[in-house]
Amino acid sequence: MSKTIEERSLETWFMEFEVVCRRCQSKWQPPIARFVNAGTDPDARLGILLGTMHRSYCPACKLKQLIDTTFEYYEPEQNIVIQVRPEWEFKAGGGEDYYLKRFEDLIIKYSKTDVRVDVVFGMNELIHKYLGGDEAIASAQEEWNQRREQARKQHEERTLAREAFEAEQPEGAADDESGTTA
Ligand SMILES: [Zn+2]
Repeated sequence: MSKTIEERSLETWFMEFEVVCRRCQSKWQPPIARFVNAGTDPDARLGILLGTMHRSYCPACKLKQLIDTTFEYYEPEQNIVIQVRPEWEFKAGGGEDYYLKRFEDLIIKYSKTDVRVDVVFGMNELIHKYLGGDEAIASAQEEWNQRREQARKQHEERTLAREAFEAEQPEGAADDESGTTA
């Protein structure tokens, strides 16, 4: 009668996460992804490959902090949910047995959802086991550089357009408004 585990939603969701700066003790709450759907949020994959995911900067002293927390990553092409746990946990927890325990828990968690599951420890393992490894990192960097170049060009075009417009302004605009043309 009782519904044990309901089907899990595979949508991206965030949670505010309290961070304390290890240098100046400031506190802030960046939104941190707890579940990522790589189909609807492809930039998350890019962020993982570029090492920018789950990083936050202290608003007071700008120190970069790693938010070392567990999240789940859904890859629709392989129809798999990968739980990404902190890297240090593997050794601290007891190695392979710890992995199997977490893996079993995850199978139960998603038993009513039509997906495969796996557990990895650290972004590095995620990247090398599921995201394409070093090759994927290289192409992510290339894509990022292209985007930056594109953004820079657009910015320059906008600036040029504005300058062109401003250059026309002085005489022409003043004449029209004064209405002195016969
Ligand atoms: Zn700080």
